[in-house]
Amino acid sequence: MSSIYEQLSGTDIPASAIHLNVPMSGYTTFRVGGPADCLIDISSLSCLQSAVTFARQHALPLTIIGNGSNLLVRDGGIRGIVIRISSSYNNVESPSDTTICCESGISLSSLAQYALSHGLAGFEPLSGIPGSLGGAIIMNAGAYGAEIGQLVKNVTVLSLDNETIHTYNVDELAFGYRTSRLMHESCIILSAALTLHPDAPGQIRTRMQDFASQRRQKQPLDYPSAGSTFKRPKGAFAAKLIDDCGLRGFRTGDAQVSEKHCGFVINRGNATASDILSLMQHIQEIVQTRTGYLLEPEVRILGEDACD
Ligand SMILES: Cc1cc2nc3c(=O)[nH]c(=O)nc-3n(C[C@H](O)[C@H](O)[C@H](O)COP(=O)(O)OP(=O)(O)OC[C@H]3O[C@@H](n4cnc5c(N)ncnc54)[C@H](O)[C@@H]3O)c2cc1C
Repeated sequence: MSSIYEQLSGTDIPASAIHLNVPMSGYTTFRVGGPADCLIDISSLSCLQSAVTFARQHALPLTIIGNGSNLLVRDGGIRGIVIRISSSYNNVESPSDTTICCESGISLSSLAQYALSHGLAGFEPLSGIPGSLGGAIIMNAGAYGAEIGQLVKNVTVLSLDNETIHTYNVDELAFGYRTSRLMHESCIILSAALTLHPDAPGQIRTRMQDFASQRRQKQPLDYPSAGSTFKRPKGAFAAKLIDDCGLRGFRTGDAQVSEKHCGFVINRGNATASDILSLMQHIQEIVQTRTGYLLEPEVRILGEDACD
């Protein structure tokens, strides 16, 4: 297997960016997941294009990840190449009074700091989401009544079908609750332009601090997780349904329904992906039987089961 990947040394991808047979638990906030055959840390467009071309030439499957904060990777890991859009793929500029253009690896917290330093408001509710801009756009991440799709002006992607670069305007992106058109397309988000509005930095900072303190109060940030495990079903709240079904604190191995926030499955330390998946299935069965609601996972599930 490694012989194919040894040929990556003939490309312009730096050796330090190539990781063979590397556990995905080191690249996800759940801290679980078996090995990727090959993970490439992307910090420039030319490396990204080389990795995509290499995968196509060798007919290798490609998986794209950002900060891994909405991922559950199974214990058998991921075959082929994992392209990780790293947080150093993060050029950002403000070409007008209200626009920010940034590369997709930038973390939402860094973007929030940039907006604050330029006196631009609108990003504060999203500032505590621990993802990259690319991951947030794919998921249409949101918090406290705001969604990133409301701020997007346009998004530039690299198509994996023909390796061309294309810019979509917001009206072509079909943003909805935790979904977007790009979730169903074979592409990598390269960058986006966001529209914000001017405000006093002091006010922006206060709002950011307020949202951060709400997160600390309500979310189990001391344990690995991928945030809300399930989407909000129409007309109900996943956390309340789970709580009402008596599942607060319920455990499968080291995977547990958080005592602090029933919408989060947490890793108590040594959970496997299989523990988490079993717990998720149990939650879905109990909640559906008792309430009629079928909870749909918000976390993206990737990779293969482990061989016994
Ligand atoms: C403690 C905690 C709190 C959270 N709170 C919230 C919250 O309030 N609101 C919310 O919406 N989410 C929340 N999340 C979930 C998560 O942070 C968001 O979904 C985030 O936007 C995911 O970004 P990421 O870079 O980590 O993406 P990843 O988890 O790495 O990937 C998510 C999806 O995006 C795709 N993807 C990532 N980058 C790219 C790219 N550049 N091009 C193409 N596809 C890409 C991946 O293939 C995958 O399908 C929380 C998570 C945690 C751990």
